[in-house]
Amino acid sequence: MDTIPHYIGGKRVEGTSGRSADVFNPATGDVQAQVPLASEGELNAAVENAKQAQIAWAATNPQKRARVMMEFVRLLHRDMDKLAEALSREHGKTVPDAKGDIIRGLEVAEFCIGAPHLLKGEFTEGAGPGIDIHSLRQPLGVVAGITPFNFPAMIPMWKFCPAIVCGNAFILKPSERDPSVPLMLAELLSEAGLPDGILNVVQGDKASVDGILDHEDIMAVGFVGSTPIAEYVYTRGCANGKRVQCFGGAKNHMIIMPDADMDQAVDALVGAGYGAAGERCMAVSVAVPVGEDTANRLMEKLTPRVENLKIAPYTAGDDADFGPLVTKEARERVLGYINKGVEEGATLAVDGRDFKMQGYEDGFFVGGCLFDNVTKDMTIYKEEIFGPVLSVVHAPDYEEAIDLAMSHEYGNGVAIFTRDGDAARDFSSRINVGMVGVNVPIPVPIAYYTFGGWKRSGFGDLNQHGPDAFKFYTRTKTITSRWPSGIKEGAEFSIPTMG
Ligand code: NAD
Repeated sequence: MDTIPHYIGGKRVEGTSGRSADVFNPATGDVQAQVPLASEGELNAAVENAKQAQIAWAATNPQKRARVMMEFVRLLHRDMDKLAEALSREHGKTVPDAKGDIIRGLEVAEFCIGAPHLLKGEFTEGAGPGIDIHSLRQPLGVVAGITPFNFPAMIPMWKFCPAIVCGNAFILKPSERDPSVPLMLAELLSEAGLPDGILNVVQGDKASVDGILDHEDIMAVGFVGSTPIAEYVYTRGCANGKRVQCFGGAKNHMIIMPDADMDQAVDALVGAGYGAAGERCMAVSVAVPVGEDTANRLMEKLTPRVENLKIAPYTAGDDADFGPLVTKEARERVLGYINKGVEEGATLAVDGRDFKMQGYEDGFFVGGCLFDNVTKDMTIYKEEIFGPVLSVVHAPDYEEAIDLAMSHEYGNGVAIFTRDGDAARDFSSRINVGMVGVNVPIPVPIAYYTFGGWKRSGFGDLNQHGPDAFKFYTRTKTITSRWPSGIKEGAEFSIPTMG
């Protein structure tokens, strides 16, 4: 049985805690590896190592740090197939989806090549007689990231690429369900020239998360995962005086106006509702047709598409719509929600509960499910299911449709499908959700814009990737300098001051 080790100080390191977790192949249901779960002592050793290494790395000029990112991008392209295969084997998503996961992270690495420009400070000449003021952006020291299972390449890269290029050392605690790709990424960064100890992968569970949150040498924590854990990490990290940003769960609505191109809307729903088996924080899980005629036209086109979704293990080729869920527990949780939806009176228009993949009977597959006549009070509407299940909620008019999305506790992503520019503009302006799509179903911003959910989808004020990440991983120092030669004879000497 393979063991997927930690990566500390530029080396693979076996676990010594005596605790470990199974890593499954979701397509077959087999345990394919073991991952060690770090003890607090192992975490502390990694932090100590990172702390020592960070000093020289912070003193390395930004251009050299950026060149490591440049080489990392090249190596990601070189190893794309290998990384995608490892990712699909542990996560279950199709190979094209796995490549998408890697590419969205790679784009963040590309953006980070601009670090020398993004890290520039500001300068004011003559803020007073003989006085200049300038500001510096300096790294924080050792920072950490705690990441979820569903994007084991993209989300670690969202976090460690900007942190590292800013001159920090990084402790990554990836999901214990698919730990191989984060380890491979760390090895690629070493190959790209990153000094030992700057990116460390500590495999683990709650014990290592708590160790990170309580460690006095970890200055900032970025978390992505479910809302209850996001809230916990935010509260405990902040109580310990750290900078913390936490991204949580989602319930993303897609509003379909009567004038929408229905074929385009249905294509979008099939991809955004069922792609990656719905295990995406930006998946569309609620479709809101406006008006009964729109609802009828939607169901007529959508139902056969959901019935004919192609589900397959990642090894079956590139044309599958989605693969299995990540674990047996995830499958049971999703089936529990579907049963609950039926009990609470929603119409199960397409029932994928009994789907069995021939030759893969022990895999964690669930067929595509489509609920119609879902209402606001139902559990399947209120909670995140994180599976291949789409709920259709009817809205009589635009105001009720926008109110539905506005009053939901989550605010990660949202979309409107319409040909009416006025409706699109009004919607984009009023909606209280962080990422908005107009005729775009999964509006994940490109790497040079910020990614961030609102309401209970995000805690903390600065967002992932893009320019905000460069603020999150640095702190500003402002320096006021007096130059005697600038003080003219007889000029009154004053330093702008508050006190
Ligand atoms: P999760 O919350 O179970 O796990 C996330 C991380 O927290 C993992 O590293 C895990 O080891 C750790 N963790 C789990 N339980 C913990 C505990 N009790 N105490 C401390 N740490 C703990 O999430 P997941 O199932 O891996 O990922 C799916 C969730 O992530 C979904 O809710 C999804 O919406 C969300 N997500 C959000 C975004 C976003 O950007 N908003 C992106 C991707 C995923």
